Amino acid sequence: MAFPEEGQGPVLVPGRDCGSCSLCCILPDIAEFDKPANQPCRHCLPGGGCDAYDVRPSTCREFYCLWRTDPTLGDDWEPRLSRMMLYAQGPQLTVLVEPEAGAIWLEAPYLGWLEARARAVKPEGGYVVVYSAESLVVFK
Ligand code: SF4
Ligand code: SF4
Repeated sequence: MAFPEEGQGPVLVPGRDCGSCSLCCILPDIAEFDKPANQPCRHCLPGGGCDAYDVRPSTCREFYCLWRTDPTLGDDWEPRLSRMMLYAQGPQLTVLVEPEAGAIWLEAPYLGWLEARARAVKPEGGYVVVYSAESLVVFK
């Protein structure tokens, strides 16, 4: 989830930070504390931040979206700009789109990159899945 501590967990891309972004505290469902998808966590503070920062669960402490950890992901993918949050689980890539952002993921450069990623991970059995308000689309 948001607000990871620099220097812990995976190597972070230099020069990138979460800033006011809270997408990973809003878009995913988080079973540990019964948080449904597309609703702010009950610990989200207005304008960004977490009121349980010091005691946030390990799910939050260990999470970074792909934009924070993958230098091959360009700045077009900054979650505040793209309105999407990406995370990888092995060769699988999951894309969560802000419901209010509609089909932004179909626009350039996003769709082309997602298609290319699906082609690249296919030999490993990977795929790309996009969750948006309108649809669930899988690229294989
Ligand atoms: S979605 Fe990414 S950039 Fe946004 S708060 Fe979470 S880790 Fe930070
Ligand atoms: S506990 Fe804090 S860091 Fe974790 S999802 Fe909620 S607001 Fe985000």
